[in-house]
Amino acid sequence: MKKSKIWLSSPHLGGDEIDYVNSAFEENWVAPLGPNVAGFEKDIQHYLNTDNYIAALSSGTAALHLSLIMNNIGNDDFVICQSLTFSASANPIKYVGAKAIFIDSELDTWNMCPEALRNAIEFCIKKNKKLKAVICVHLYGMPAKLDEIRTICDEYNIILIEDSADALGSIFKNQKCGTFGDFGILSFNGNKIITTSGGGALICNSQKEQQKAVFYATQARDDAPHYQHSEIGYNYRLSNISAGIGRGQMKVLDKHISLRRKMNQFYQELFKDIEGITVFKEPNSDYFSNHWLSAILVDSTKTKNNLTREDIRLAFEEENIESRPLWKPMHLQPVFKDELYFGGSVAENLFRDGLCLPSGSNLTDEDRERITSVIQKLFN
Ligand SMILES: *Cc1c(COP(=O)(O)O)cnc(C)c1O
Repeated sequence: MKKSKIWLSSPHLGGDEIDYVNSAFEENWVAPLGPNVAGFEKDIQHYLNTDNYIAALSSGTAALHLSLIMNNIGNDDFVICQSLTFSASANPIKYVGAKAIFIDSELDTWNMCPEALRNAIEFCIKKNKKLKAVICVHLYGMPAKLDEIRTICDEYNIILIEDSADALGSIFKNQKCGTFGDFGILSFNGNKIITTSGGGALICNSQKEQQKAVFYATQARDDAPHYQHSEIGYNYRLSNISAGIGRGQMKVLDKHISLRRKMNQFYQELFKDIEGITVFKEPNSDYFSNHWLSAILVDSTKTKNNLTREDIRLAFEEENIESRPLWKPMHLQPVFKDELYFGGSVAENLFRDGLCLPSGSNLTDEDRERITSVIQKLFN
């Protein structure tokens, strides 16, 4: 019999979600509007411990799209984006017709390299390109170098958008990720640290911006008894059913973070004496990652029998355990071949050597034993 699949990251329900969904049914709030939507937004705001305002949306991608629209970014504008990320970070740049400039990573956090960012901005100034925004990412939950990136954006007066889809609950210098930017985004997709089955949020600096985001997300209806439109709208609001799942999930978020951090500890322990493999962790105590995904780097010049990350991935696959290479950098993707790129080969090397491992908060001791035995078989 085939062993059950161990996923990289799968939905993990706490139990209270169904109560919020039931009350939506009972009160007939089966719509993209209702008490769960407002309640979920309050819960997130409270959790982030911030004066920022939250707009609950249908996805993280929608949140990024709206953040660009709200800054009037369009044709002939340029947006800088981290290259080592999921395509959803970059696609909205194309939705609005703008051009992307991709930036390499640095080795401490695997996120946007501040030095390459500065070079890209200087290039835009020299070439008279209309640079409008920077999208930084907190990959796998690891906070980016927010001090430097925020300072550079301020220095050049450029909007900072924080893609915090992976990093709900991550902290940089006592401040929660998602609250450093002019806008921040969250995702509640099925594989994220909490899920609404599909959903996202835009974190705004003012109530006015939050209201504008909701306006765009609900078809941009002007204030009139009939349907009147002065702007193009979108259907991007989160449903009251999904928001109900989210409210239940917020209650277990801290527990999920602590369990995911334990998975990271488990891998630190598992690989501690294995030559050529390092587990990705925080560079110092300024950084607190939710460790949404744990990942390793495999240096095949040092591993036993020169095992590569692909050898390890295949050994896991053999046992029905999911593992996955890091994101393939955007500047190497066929669809983005015409965009500019600044930096060296850090992201490319991370892609070559990096592997994400099962990291869910719902993994059991038995799952961990199966993972351990794959590694022991390979390396002992
Ligand atoms: C998941 C994810 C997104 C997109 O969020 P969706 O809710 O799936 O649209 C954006 N950026 C990153 C880094 C992600 O991991």
